[in-house]
Amino acid sequence: MNDRTTGFLRQSYKEFYFKRGAESIEFPEETASREFGYIPFGGGMVRHLSFKSPGEALAEVLRQSPSSVYCSNARYEFPARPIEEKGWLGAELIFDIDATDIPTPCKKGHDLWYCEKCYASGKLPRPAKCTKCGGPAVEFHGVCEDCLQAAKEHAGNVVKFLTEDFGVDLSAIRIYFSGNRGYHLHVFDRRFDALDQRARGEIAEYVKGSTLPPSQTIAATLRRRLPSSPQGAGWTKRVTGYVAEHNKNYGGTLQKLVSEAVASQRALVDTSVTTDIHRVFRLAGTLHGNTGMSKMRVRSLDEFDPQEEPIVISSKPVTLHVSFHPRFRLKHKDFGPYKDENVELPTYAAVSILTRDMGEVV
Ligand SMILES: [Zn+2]
Ligand SMILES: [Zn+2]
Repeated sequence: MNDRTTGFLRQSYKEFYFKRGAESIEFPEETASREFGYIPFGGGMVRHLSFKSPGEALAEVLRQSPSSVYCSNARYEFPARPIEEKGWLGAELIFDIDATDIPTPCKKGHDLWYCEKCYASGKLPRPAKCTKCGGPAVEFHGVCEDCLQAAKEHAGNVVKFLTEDFGVDLSAIRIYFSGNRGYHLHVFDRRFDALDQRARGEIAEYVKGSTLPPSQTIAATLRRRLPSSPQGAGWTKRVTGYVAEHNKNYGGTLQKLVSEAVASQRALVDTSVTTDIHRVFRLAGTLHGNTGMSKMRVRSLDEFDPQEEPIVISSKPVTLHVSFHPRFRLKHKDFGPYKDENVELPTYAAVSILTRDMGEVV
């Protein structure tokens, strides 16, 4: 990335933070016990920072206007010390749902490899080298409205597990759009705060349905007496309820129906995020370093439009040279595909290309 591009990105982020940072950024409770971190444009990760108050933290975000800002879900006695000396006091339970982890059929259409040298491209899997010129082949993972809708459904499923199976009050769950292609759920319910990595891992595997027996085994059990209403609790209730509701007019096998019951109700969360109790997460209300979109609070999953609301950077036109970028959609408008050409784009669309290092400001 050249200096002009880095400067343009920093300026675009700065403009947002100065205009809207104070209202947009959401600091967690007990700010003084959190670890903060950030990645400056053109620099490496800075961690182990702490601030006495939200005001002090906000001032630093404005001053730096970095590419990414992070904050721990854990609370520490000494948040600025190295990990082993921090004095861990507990951490909110967190779930990360990313469209990349959900096997949507549309991926075949928008995930691809391309050559960084001659810009040839093709379907995945990525060859070791460009098939045309032998140059470096890299993967590109796109995201479409179907992917974002799937992520939203999985986020909704996590909410159902938490409220129905774990007795969490709906008001204790905060849902955020991640700023990229998914959702973060923060659970402000003190019962979970002291859980270790293993216990958190069990919860993640439970909502994913990965601890369930194979659908063939479940179907064999249900075949003995087909349920006519939901039975038991938790996953048993979900599967028997689904089968009872759908089996009358169902054309396929019982095993297929059981698979469907699981697939439609599971939540494919990233286990490694839930189990990491020392992680720093993107701070709510700040801009994502690879998209320029805002990580933002979602009050209603049904009504939230991830193609519109998180796009908070200006529409001012800017000319850039795009080396390569497949077609993409923002604010319900199509852009691209672009290949080795100069284009004029609204800043928010330019930023999503520049932050991925797929173009430079002219
Ligand atoms: Zn090539
Ligand atoms: Zn898709």
